[in-house]
Amino acid sequence: MQTSDDQIIRAWAERPGRHIVNLSGGKDSTALAIFLRGKIPQLEYLFCDTHKELPETYEYLDRLAAYLQRPIMRLNAERGFDHWLEMYGGMLPSARVRWCTRKLKIEPFEYFVGDDQVWSYVGIRADEERSGYVSTKPNIQPVFPFKEFGLKLADIERILEDSGIGLPSYYEWRQRSGCWFCFYQRSGEWVGLKERHPELYEQAKAYESKRDGEQFFWRQRESLAELERPERIAQIKAQHAQRLEQERRQRPDQPLIELIGAALDAEDDERGCDICHL
Ligand code: SF4
Repeated sequence: MQTSDDQIIRAWAERPGRHIVNLSGGKDSTALAIFLRGKIPQLEYLFCDTHKELPETYEYLDRLAAYLQRPIMRLNAERGFDHWLEMYGGMLPSARVRWCTRKLKIEPFEYFVGDDQVWSYVGIRADEERSGYVSTKPNIQPVFPFKEFGLKLADIERILEDSGIGLPSYYEWRQRSGCWFCFYQRSGEWVGLKERHPELYEQAKAYESKRDGEQFFWRQRESLAELERPERIAQIKAQHAQRLEQERRQRPDQPLIELIGAALDAEDDERGCDICHL
């Protein structure tokens, strides 16, 4: 950090209002919390808990709180996922109708801060195109430190490594934070869920239903019952291994974790949720 960068952060810290980092349990928002540690003394750390997060996410947040030596406030939506699923007539959320993010992440946060002036620090990196969570409420203003200081993926990984926090452990099989049933998961990640957390896979499967003649699946192409057939799992694994090998050949010096991410993106690079996957 150069002096002018320090000056910018000091000027941010002097702004009247609340200063908040919304954590997702993912690497970028975690790195942001570490990056800002001690620089903005009044910083608040929040996590909007859907109660459908992976155990690894809760463990990662606990480790982060210990590192920060500050509590991470967990906001819970007044009514949880199951209530809203009922309200939406059993229609599972999807990329097109993403009611889960609004009901379980955005609304609890906006309700919590009310009309307070808020500076909301967002972990979008300088090498990303997406905009992250930008509230429509004028009292909530986003701040993008990584963009401001040109910090890219390698910088984020370095911040995490230097702190000793590292990447979330679910990165070995899944590259995005968020609910264990998130519909943004790629085939290989669903297989990872089945193998690492078979009970959660079963619960995700139980959410799939047929109502009034309409099928509600997490994935458009196939149900989770279809995906877990041994021959289908073997096919998904073979395709993933093929993509991984291709990535390895093209970029032999990249760490495995990045190659796994690239192999997953090669199946489906839809960027995911700007709020949950940070
Ligand atoms: S992680 Fe996925 S399922 Fe969960 S709230 Fe976010 S978009 Fe919805």
